[in-house]
Amino acid sequence: MKIRLAAPLQGDSIVDGEGIRAVVWTQGCSHNCFACQNPQTHDFKGGYEEDVENIKEDISSLVLEDGITFSGGDPMFQAKACSEIAEFAKEQGLNIWCYTGFTFEKLLEMKNKDVSKFLDNIDVLVDGKFELEHRSFECMYRGSTNQRLIDVQKSLKENRVVTITKYDEKEIIKPQRKRVFV
Ligand code: SF4
Repeated sequence: MKIRLAAPLQGDSIVDGEGIRAVVWTQGCSHNCFACQNPQTHDFKGGYEEDVENIKEDISSLVLEDGITFSGGDPMFQAKACSEIAEFAKEQGLNIWCYTGFTFEKLLEMKNKDVSKFLDNIDVLVDGKFELEHRSFECMYRGSTNQRLIDVQKSLKENRVVTITKYDEKEIIKPQRKRVFV
């Protein structure tokens, strides 16, 4: 399976979610948030195509990272490929964050099997468009206050949106690597 990317897998990120992360920069987004910081990732024909298997290989060689973050662009436009990558990363003991311009409620409304499967593999969803009028430097890992950090698995289980407010009390953002380093 192929995925369209804006850039190769980026390791060592400490700004795209909790802990040390590797970022999958997907290409393609139609949300058109005013003052988006990554306008070069909007064009669905931009970037380049990559084989999902190559990304899995890159992920399997990660050493320091606690998790994978899907960003872009909007990863939900390529939910099938992202889901496959996320499932593999979870098997490697990595946690999964995803940024999307859709709200969590909108994603559920879609009733799209690929989106649903992707959500099943996401620990934390940062949802909603970037809104310049709500920009804040106070919100961790978000650009504007309308965006939420959502505990996806708890939200799906309880059938309501469960947001994360206290990072250090959440198991899901702690390192989950099963590997033992000697
Ligand atoms: S969803 Fe993200 S990538 Fe898309 S326009 Fe908004 S800020 Fe930019």
